[in-house]
Amino acid sequence: MKWSEQAEAALRKVPFFVRKRVRKRVEEEAVAAGAREVTIEHVVRCQQRFMKNQEEDVRGFQVETCFGPGGCPNSVGPDPELARRIEEHLAGLDLKGELKKRVKGLLKMHHEFRVSVSDCPNGCSRPQIVDVGLLGALRPEVTGEDCSGCGACVAACREEAITLRETGPVIAMYECLACGQCAKACPTGTLAAGRRGYRILVGGKLGRHPQLGRELPGIFTAEEALETVKRCAAHFLAHNREGERFGEILQRTGYHELGRGK
Ligand code: SF4
Ligand code: SF4
Ligand code: SF4
Repeated sequence: MKWSEQAEAALRKVPFFVRKRVRKRVEEEAVAAGAREVTIEHVVRCQQRFMKNQEEDVRGFQVETCFGPGGCPNSVGPDPELARRIEEHLAGLDLKGELKKRVKGLLKMHHEFRVSVSDCPNGCSRPQIVDVGLLGALRPEVTGEDCSGCGACVAACREEAITLRETGPVIAMYECLACGQCAKACPTGTLAAGRRGYRILVGGKLGRHPQLGRELPGIFTAEEALETVKRCAAHFLAHNREGERFGEILQRTGYHELGRGK
């Protein structure tokens, strides 16, 4: 839908992590009013309603995604349905009802349990600052195929994790972010796709005491990632006292119950 310049300028002032959601709401507002273009009036009306009915807008959870499933060439996320399956699970938990019992005063968006799925380590949907962030991951594997020494893998690796020896490529796994680009670039199959799945970050948040999510060890298949999100949501509900963020809860309880990948 087209946006007027003034409306776009107003949207740019909204904090980036809720901008996508606000854009959707304002467009709904414009459609309901029978408009073909979003104007500043739609933005203001939406803002006024939001201030008045803040609690009604809270769902208890949010699941955000990057544009990977829409065809981004960097995507290594193995399951385009994962975000929908996570959303389905969270919708069945009545997180809003549970949070309302614990939060003193009005329930706000920052109380919600937030999950973000990015289909590669670039993390465009900002998985580092939500309760559970998933990053599509593909570990390269060195096969028995002869290496031609072309250097395409070294050129493809932005982490400088690959060294070429006479015997072929050697990968420094502690430097590797599992973006899969080297396996894609290799013309001989010496480097091929190994384990594919998701890296998982937990407990990221902004606010007064911001912190980046801490990575659980290993790479999780889509099924394992779904199970981990379920465990995290259960942990969030079991230990949430007054609408705290997951990161604060984990500082109290530790991370050991959340599991690990391979
Ligand atoms: S996170 Fe990766 S796959 Fe997703 S939109 Fe960004 S670059 Fe593309
Ligand atoms: S997967 Fe990505 S980060 Fe890892 S070695 Fe290959 S290109 Fe480098
Ligand atoms: S891209 Fe493949 S063939 Fe070329 S140097 Fe790397 S491993 Fe060898």
